[in-house]
Amino acid sequence: MIDQADFVARVQRNDPDADLSLVARAFDFSHDAHGTQTRASGEPYFSHPLEVAGIVTDMRLDATTVATALLHDTVEDTVATLEQIDDQFGAEIAQLVDGVTKLTMLEHVRPTQRSREAENFRKLLLAMSNDLRVLIVKLADRLHNMRTLSFIDQPDKRGRIAAETMDIYAPLAERIGMHAIKDELEDLAFAELNSEARNSVVGRLDFLRSETGDIIVRITHELERTLNGAGLSATVFGREKRPYSIWRKMERKNISFEQLADVMAFRILVDSDDDCYRALGIVHRRYSMVPERFKDFISTPKPNGYRSVHTTVIGPERRRIEIQIRTRDMNEVAEHGVAAHWQYKDGVKLKEGAQQFSWIRQLLEMLEHGGQPEEFLEHTKLEMYQDQVFCFSPKGDLIALPRGATPVDFAYAVHSDVGDTCVGSKVNGRIAPLRTTLENGDQVEIMRSSAQTPSPTWLNFVVTGKARSAIRRFVRVQQDQQYVDLGTAILRRAFQKAGHDLNDKALERALTVLSLKTPNELYAHVGQGFMSGKEVLDVVFPTEGERRIPNFVRAAIRRVRAGRDVEQAIPIKGLIQGVAVHYADCCHPLPGDRIVGILTEGKGVRIHTIDCETLGSFGSSPERWLDVSWDVGPSSDEVHLGRIKVTLTNEPGALNALTGVIANNNANITNLKVSNRSDDFFEFLVDVEVRDVKHMTGMIAALRAEERIHKVDRVRS
Ligand code: MN
Repeated sequence: MIDQADFVARVQRNDPDADLSLVARAFDFSHDAHGTQTRASGEPYFSHPLEVAGIVTDMRLDATTVATALLHDTVEDTVATLEQIDDQFGAEIAQLVDGVTKLTMLEHVRPTQRSREAENFRKLLLAMSNDLRVLIVKLADRLHNMRTLSFIDQPDKRGRIAAETMDIYAPLAERIGMHAIKDELEDLAFAELNSEARNSVVGRLDFLRSETGDIIVRITHELERTLNGAGLSATVFGREKRPYSIWRKMERKNISFEQLADVMAFRILVDSDDDCYRALGIVHRRYSMVPERFKDFISTPKPNGYRSVHTTVIGPERRRIEIQIRTRDMNEVAEHGVAAHWQYKDGVKLKEGAQQFSWIRQLLEMLEHGGQPEEFLEHTKLEMYQDQVFCFSPKGDLIALPRGATPVDFAYAVHSDVGDTCVGSKVNGRIAPLRTTLENGDQVEIMRSSAQTPSPTWLNFVVTGKARSAIRRFVRVQQDQQYVDLGTAILRRAFQKAGHDLNDKALERALTVLSLKTPNELYAHVGQGFMSGKEVLDVVFPTEGERRIPNFVRAAIRRVRAGRDVEQAIPIKGLIQGVAVHYADCCHPLPGDRIVGILTEGKGVRIHTIDCETLGSFGSSPERWLDVSWDVGPSSDEVHLGRIKVTLTNEPGALNALTGVIANNNANITNLKVSNRSDDFFEFLVDVEVRDVKHMTGMIAALRAEERIHKVDRVRS
């Protein structure tokens, strides 16, 4: 393990302007914090953060990131605290370390390997890395853990880590353009997941090498001579492709190793965009090009900012070889992706290539205007996934939802049965209202009850189409049934009062006259208030001698027919108490109050208290009045909304007294509004949830007993 001075020197080599004292202090802090801890390899634990910091500095990232890498496991794995880090290294590094720690903790709820979930998990990691340096350190951390994977004894644990690397971290590295890390992660994971396949590829490569000698060196030299001979200054690098990429190609194209022509890859680095095309011309003139293998990612860069020209030729020694041509700047981007963008103080050349990556474009703009890259990384949130949140089930399944989603959306996303029966939720282990807005990384547990049914009020806050349509469907079915029940009750009552029986014959007669098909249709129309019981009675038993259908019945028929259309347009949203029955919000009837129902066309029955001041306006149409009564069991714990008007004396503590008395009476305030004020008095409208009228009267009596409360009354209009 290298010592502090050596490590600091390495950082200085990569970045001569780096804050070396910061790096030295982070080195010492981490070294002391990890103390005598050891890794699975038996090495001191500190070797791990040190290696991670080494990876990061070799990518030429700033001292802040190097310090973060050194400290990245101190909060999670030692007694050191975030406050200490904040104290000694400042808020920026504390935030970065905190970010890495959070990503590490997320691993404990990692998704299963299904590809959609893996994609969601990658998005989550990206979205939670508000500062991209967090993600870069995390990837370096994973890279070192993969390099030392063989020291872990348990094969299943090794396999899990390798699979996760393949599914989550390698694609993530690719997403942000860090190809060097991506390639190495993939190959290390490949060695663990399919060592047999990898060994056979490696064996073939060894064999090929023994036959062809230092062919890569020979081809490299010849390419370089060709380019330089044509007057172009270029550097050529040759390499064998990585076993994993060879394997993938064999798998994808379903070919054998012998058929696989290009196991070697060459890269030509030049100084300018123009030189890329000059190099291409020189290569194509000298060697024949393999058709359909040419790609120009300089004119059309990949979404992650990658730029290069790719071609395949029958090259030196008649070997088929793949060649990438790019500038040195493009090469930095290709290898290190977003990290490369960070490195540059003059990023102007990268501009066109980065067009499609908004964050890179912003970075470049900031650099051009003299800003610091640190500033950019700090302030730029990854906006790619701002329209989504990612949440976990208690089992660790990942559910992606639109932003603004609630536990009800979550429940329906899991399964429609879960949605239909949800009664409550826990978010991160704490009880939370069903209308809570979920955030990235929340763990959501849905509490269910078989007695629960979807509530129309949920429509006010759900955001997913799945939840919305499931609730609507349920409410529609429920609504139909409620109208049918209500209509049945109304008709029975009407017939009974007139001394008739609502028998099959009577029903048949009504259906024929009204051109309806089923009794339920008739009941539903009556329940919705399109016809009154008296009107149906007149249809079945026309007045003596009158053979023609009376005018009012015609009108009723018209209403029924029009009602069919109206029915489809009934707004469900905002119906709180139920569907066919609503409590009027003028008088807020409570169980125990004397009540009356008013049939309203298309809306069912609205319940008022008998002394409600608004009832006068219905006096002219008595056929709409309906005698109703409460059907609430004594043990019901259902609550109802009541409204009271309270006048308080304007003095300290008066409001406190009001809310205190209400709370002492086990009632719940749902709304509080000043309706009038003067120097001496305040008048409040208070909405309270109570069980029934007795509960309400008891509470009002208690309020009246309170000195600072001047006047209390239930609201009647
Ligand atoms: Mn670590």
